[in-house]
Amino acid sequence: MTPHRPHPSRRIAIIGAGIAGLACARTLRQAGHDVAVFEAEPSPGGRMATVQTAFGGFDAGVQYFTVRDERFMQALQATAPDVVRRWSANAVRVLDERGRVAEAAPPAPESHWVAVPAMDSLPWRWAEPLAAAGALHLDTRVTRIARDRLSPTRWQLHTTGHGDEHLVHAGFDHVVLAVTASQAREMLQFSEQLAALPPALAAVDVAPCWTLMLAYPNAAQPGLHTLGPQWNAARSTHHRVSWLTRESSKPGRTAVERWTVQASAAWSREHERDDPARANAKLLRAFAEITGIHATPAHAEVRLWRQARTLVPLGRTHLWDDARGIGLCGDWCIGSRVEDAFVSGLALALAMDER
Ligand SMILES: Cc1cc2nc3c(=O)[nH]c(=O)nc-3n(C[C@H](O)[C@H](O)[C@H](O)COP(=O)(O)OP(=O)(O)OC[C@H]3O[C@@H](n4cnc5c(N)ncnc54)[C@H](O)[C@@H]3O)c2cc1C
Repeated sequence: MTPHRPHPSRRIAIIGAGIAGLACARTLRQAGHDVAVFEAEPSPGGRMATVQTAFGGFDAGVQYFTVRDERFMQALQATAPDVVRRWSANAVRVLDERGRVAEAAPPAPESHWVAVPAMDSLPWRWAEPLAAAGALHLDTRVTRIARDRLSPTRWQLHTTGHGDEHLVHAGFDHVVLAVTASQAREMLQFSEQLAALPPALAAVDVAPCWTLMLAYPNAAQPGLHTLGPQWNAARSTHHRVSWLTRESSKPGRTAVERWTVQASAAWSREHERDDPARANAKLLRAFAEITGIHATPAHAEVRLWRQARTLVPLGRTHLWDDARGIGLCGDWCIGSRVEDAFVSGLALALAMDER
């Protein structure tokens, strides 16, 4: 039986398959709308990312997530109970500049969750129904949003994809930008006939983050299970580093000794223009100072997230321009966490379905 629909079904383009875009797309599809998701990268997830190496995977972006909103818990339980696990990060320490434990681990006030076997397993799970319906366009970067030539009340998207292929996707009633704040600003500025930038969007501030990934396969020798400290995750007050974790301590991961190190927001901003080799060397030195691990890693790789952590959010769950049919969502609307991205995508979808 077709569910009763108080509002007509619409054709909606969603730009970005991070957690916000996926949450928005799922909700709109469930409400009966015709959704197409465009993602610039070859895989969904955005900053909920896994970097695969010969030594195992690294959670290069999101380290763990918390669940405070009942709707997020319901979505996880309904769609991905086998893909999320609690992680005993109650072992999180707070370290001083020289890597000494400054504060013992406080009892975890709430569960810390990770996706298994890798952090990108959750976005992949949420992307599956879209992919099965032919509604997920990976490796497809939206370069411009314009009025539809044949139907001027609608929108068309210009994209580039595999082998620099240029395409135009037409006939959308609405467009959702589920991208970072600066990507949204850029796209709105360079697209025709769009609203002037909402002033609140200009005030959003998101810091970059350098991430260092290290593997020590030789640590797995008889009698030597791990290198360095006995803790698995720590916040650090070192001026270069804010967070370190032993990847192999997370559920579902392989045993090879691997560390992920997140640079502080201040240091990342100051060193945003560094070349990767320089950032790698500096962060490796900080890692040795903090952990006492001076062995040369078999694998050391850095990645710069240009828009990582929200410092100043928008202060509203989403933006919706009803006259033009353009919506914006993302973690930066309300915060800096995976759950904020989910809530933002969900709130925008509900607002769009209501109109
Ligand atoms: C280093 C780091 C550590 C973090 N640690 C944690 C943590 O421990 N816990 C936590 O809760 N959160 C953490 N976060 C924050 C978390 O990653 C975000 O809150 C969340 O993933 C944001 O989701 P999103 O969908 O809003 O944006 P994104 O994940 O950034 O998704 C945006 C998507 O849009 C795509 N896109 C952009 N432009 C285009 C275009 N023109 N065309 C098509 N696609 C486009 C991008 O490729 C991307 O996939 C961390 C982030 C970083 C970077």
